[in-house]
Amino acid sequence: MLTKELIWLIDSPEQLAAKNKQYLWHPFTQMKDYIEDEPLIIERGEGIRLYDVHGNAYYDGFSSVWLNVHGHNVPELNQAIVEQLEKVAHSTLLGMANVPSILLAEQLIRLAPEGLTKVFYSDNGATAVEISLKMAFQYWQNRGIAGKRSFVTMNNAYHGDTIGATSVGAIPLYHQVYKPLLFTPYVIPYPYPYRDGGEEAAVGRMLDGLERLLQEKSSEIAALIVEPVVQGAGGMIVMPEGCLKKIADLLASYNVLLICDEVATGFGRTGKMFACEHDGVTPDIMAVAKGITGGYLPVAATLVKEKIYDAFYADYEEQKTFFHGHSFTGNPLGCAVALANLRLMEERGLVEAVEQRAGHLAQLLSPLSDERHVGEIRQKGLMVGIELVQDKETKEPYHWNERMGVRVCKLARKKGLLTRPLGNVVVLIPPLVSTDEELDAMVGILADSIRESTLGTEGGAQ
Ligand code: PMP
Repeated sequence: MLTKELIWLIDSPEQLAAKNKQYLWHPFTQMKDYIEDEPLIIERGEGIRLYDVHGNAYYDGFSSVWLNVHGHNVPELNQAIVEQLEKVAHSTLLGMANVPSILLAEQLIRLAPEGLTKVFYSDNGATAVEISLKMAFQYWQNRGIAGKRSFVTMNNAYHGDTIGATSVGAIPLYHQVYKPLLFTPYVIPYPYPYRDGGEEAAVGRMLDGLERLLQEKSSEIAALIVEPVVQGAGGMIVMPEGCLKKIADLLASYNVLLICDEVATGFGRTGKMFACEHDGVTPDIMAVAKGITGGYLPVAATLVKEKIYDAFYADYEEQKTFFHGHSFTGNPLGCAVALANLRLMEERGLVEAVEQRAGHLAQLLSPLSDERHVGEIRQKGLMVGIELVQDKETKEPYHWNERMGVRVCKLARKKGLLTRPLGNVVVLIPPLVSTDEELDAMVGILADSIRESTLGTEGGAQ
């Protein structure tokens, strides 16, 4: 008979696969598809590769959901956790502080755009956004301007899956079903030059929409939330240069707060420490997560300008307190590894290196744009989206039923590259430490997978 101890030791890959299907409900996944597929079960990671329980190696081509910085099993990061573990694994920020969370807050403020002065912790991107929204709302309430309670979001925005973050989400596939449950923001276009008649037209349309809205409604708008410079889940759509600055200036002139959701773009991913730096913008509120710990542990933060903090700073009886917090807020293990991650990034000059690597990556990707079904390749730093189309001339997309993005990624996995599609957009978001050779290998696999998957998909034209 099996003892309790033995049960944990005997699982073969096949047994794990069976238990995975039996017990787990995976995120963002139609489980019916998943159950019918061969599951990928990761056992370990080394450098920018992950290894499954059969020992097969895969490039982590999407940085394990856009968060890996230094690769996997990084001695310096492991060590930081072990050292903190030997002191204390958990403490709360409720009524007390812990050492790593204080030191990390100091570093975040040092690295953040000038003018952000205070750090409020949480533990994932959605909650960092949730906090941003609640702070923006209460900021105006606390100042006695109670009518400013609406939000503006952008078409195809994604800010996470909690209720507030879903409310400012604007991707019908993910968000539509919940609409009756949610608050309703104003939605303006996000500039999508490929499908909106080029950069000038796309930016113009967005700015016109925003200005008209502000002229009419600014007295009731608390804030606009935006994914700065790259709209991630909406399809890796890159904002033309200067666009974010124009948004920021317009908002300032109408007395509306700017929330930048840097959850995906923060910590070097786009070639600057934070994407809003590309346009020299300091948001009023900035949400960060993902890369903050190099992907190691769940830590997130909302950074604010002093004027936001000030609006909450009052005698208790004035009822201006921000009543929000999570059990894992400022977790010391997470903050310790975040500190080690940021230190290592600076020692390795990683943000500067991303610029060089991005140049190399652009060169590697460039021949792909001649492919018959590659509509557009979009890139900012090490964030890449390749939009696949049925017809290059007309830009006709693949019907969603064809699941072209999924097909490409499944084939890529067989060839040793992990990534996930966003509809018809295939992403490549390698860990920031990826070498030129590793980028060569990843792009090679992706290019082959795109060619093979799209071959003969001309919709009856062939
Ligand atoms: N905001 C943006 C821009 C994101 O890309 C994501 C996640 N991809 C989130 C928020 C949500 O982050 P999390 O998954 O950590 O909740």
